[in-house]
Amino acid sequence: MSQVGELEAGNRHDLRVGLSPDAPDEADLRDDHKGEHGYVHSYESSSRYDGPGVRAVLFVSGCLLRCTYCHNPDTWHLKDGTYVSAAHVIERLRAFAPALRALDGGLTISGGEPMVQRDFTRRIFAGAKQMGLHTAIQTSGFLGDRADDDYLSVIDLVLLDIKSFDPATYKAVTERELAPTLRFAERLAALGKPAWVRFTLVPGRTDDPANVEGIARFVAPMKNVAWVEVQPFHQMGAFKWKAMGLDYREEATASPTPDLVKRVHEQFRAAGCNVR
Ligand code: SF4
Repeated sequence: MSQVGELEAGNRHDLRVGLSPDAPDEADLRDDHKGEHGYVHSYESSSRYDGPGVRAVLFVSGCLLRCTYCHNPDTWHLKDGTYVSAAHVIERLRAFAPALRALDGGLTISGGEPMVQRDFTRRIFAGAKQMGLHTAIQTSGFLGDRADDDYLSVIDLVLLDIKSFDPATYKAVTERELAPTLRFAERLAALGKPAWVRFTLVPGRTDDPANVEGIARFVAPMKNVAWVEVQPFHQMGAFKWKAMGLDYREEATASPTPDLVKRVHEQFRAAGCNVR
């Protein structure tokens, strides 16, 4: 059993490892339908990049993907996070709630993958809703089958990463299958659940025109998707891979050129997506 700790302010670029050595393996985690405690990397109190307005962002631990370009490999394992109570997280959030409401923002839970700890994140989303906050989840959608109607009822916006459309590319980039993400996207569209789609543009990995085209054509008819956000690859997470002794395969990968970003934007726009 992990020791209960305190939520620490910080940001996504902090390296946090080995804080809860007794944590279960994230792949074995079974929701206890209570979610009173969970594992957290850090939080930021004022981000403009993770949903509308100014947002508190909670980065939770645990992810089953292994993206070659991941900026936060220290969120993959529960054992690297701090074990905290959901009540403690909600109390911390309460201090920021008036400012977040005034700035048209809210709470975003990111990771890692929030649905690894579904009942813990559900409890925090519900607490945020009780404070009148807008709520958003950032997710790969790989565990979208875990998002039952009750879970979606406390989430106002889904920031859905579609990391590639070509199944082989998706597998090469994430080590997982594409199908669950597309299934989740289709379900959100059928429910009319507001979503923004995010696509990380990694030169030499995800930039193939047919791959981009596939996402664009898939998303364009979805009326629930307000935006496609193209996120250019950067090297800000490289130091974490090195510090953790991981094999970083994007060492030589450059950020996309302005011309490449422009081409990708134009592909999304031409298919009928709102892109930025
Ligand atoms: S889904 Fe996100 S946290 Fe998980 S490996 Fe990919 S980039 Fe990293």
